[in-house]
Amino acid sequence: MNILLIGSGGREHALAWAISNSPLLTKLYASPGNAGIGQVADLVSLAIEDHGAVIAFCREKAIDFVVVGPEAPLVAGLVDDLTAAGIKAFGPTRAAARLEGSKAFTKGVCDEAGIPTAAYARFDNKDPALAYVREKGAPIVVKADGLAAGKGVVVAMTLDEAVEAVEACFDGSFGDAGAEVVIEEFLTGEEASFFVLVDGATALPLATAQDHKRAFDGDQGPNTGGMGAYSPAPVMTEELVARTLSDIIEPTVATMARRGTPFKGVLYAGLMITENGPKLIEYNTRFGDPECQVLMVRLKDDILTLMLAAADGTLDKVSARWKDDVAMTVVMAAKGYPGSYKKGTEIRNLDDAAQDPDIEIFHAGTKADGDRILANGGRVLNITAVGKSVEDARDKAYTAIARIDWPDGFCRSDIGWRAISREKSSKDR
Ligand code: AMP
Repeated sequence: MNILLIGSGGREHALAWAISNSPLLTKLYASPGNAGIGQVADLVSLAIEDHGAVIAFCREKAIDFVVVGPEAPLVAGLVDDLTAAGIKAFGPTRAAARLEGSKAFTKGVCDEAGIPTAAYARFDNKDPALAYVREKGAPIVVKADGLAAGKGVVVAMTLDEAVEAVEACFDGSFGDAGAEVVIEEFLTGEEASFFVLVDGATALPLATAQDHKRAFDGDQGPNTGGMGAYSPAPVMTEELVARTLSDIIEPTVATMARRGTPFKGVLYAGLMITENGPKLIEYNTRFGDPECQVLMVRLKDDILTLMLAAADGTLDKVSARWKDDVAMTVVMAAKGYPGSYKKGTEIRNLDDAAQDPDIEIFHAGTKADGDRILANGGRVLNITAVGKSVEDARDKAYTAIARIDWPDGFCRSDIGWRAISREKSSKDR
């Protein structure tokens, strides 16, 4: 099969790496890709917003299947337009991608299906929203309804912060994404991510993961797109996985089908494991980045077969098996990220750092300049390791990082701390 992969991050490098191992693959193209993806795919420069151009490329190269990595093209309806043109694609339609594109939409699905989630109210006007936060008090969570590149959520620990967040939304800080605001109850517990493939009717559980969103050690500093992750998430026991499937995922899939907008693709549930069990914080309608990286190195089965089954409605006929090993990925970012940072600095010694067969170095923001690899983004590399325990995977990842020669990069030194302290306390018992 000829495959076109859309995207340019570490998630897409991990997908490209997994797809390039598929027995079904003839040729892999990626757009726009990055230096790492370029090692396993032909890079093409397409204007992804121009769906006509993507369709024309698919016809020219006889593309059999398009895999869409990021959310923006899904929300923009790329899968609808490809499907209408007779080109098979992996990912939800625009209508189904609203599970990620609109927080108020997802809350409506939760109401309709009785899915456990934080209590909430929605507003399209500032004054009633301000009155509501004043009535409820802090801590409280203020969310811009639409896609705001991870910046639209404020967990306000004081009333002043909550008021400021509401004002920012209605003052246009998030553009259209902030025209409506969801204000919700503050949940306490441990967060975990759960990934399933969905074909419109059947949900095939993939795996669990946990990530680190803050920029600096000790979960301090500003929020980022994610500084590291590991899989599985120790907090997600078999019982919690079963409850998440029956109480959250399956009712969502059934509700979307009943509404005439069946969901197909990856459904990524962000969960809070509260003392009353798992509650849905949010849905994403694509793989997480960097969670995809740790999933792909643990997957024993062919990712392409699984994604095709999701597109074809045959997930009930396939299974996904996982290594028992733990996978961890540590993000190396350009110094200054998530604020301003330099582009174009050279990274050396990557091949040497990736010698260990338990290490994969996925590129998140790089570009090739002849034989040189240059940083080309905020998050730049994902050093991914598999090991017998979180601690083992962590040691391998940081050993590889020590070999990378990139003075302009940094990483957190404590990825996995929560899981490692859990491993230690269960050993002590
Ligand atoms: P979201 O973009 O909805 O995933 O929110 C980003 C982050 O905000 C989540 O990963 C949580 O850490 C936090 N968060 C979101 N909603 C809540 C909530 N209701 N209670 C506590 N924390 C939350």
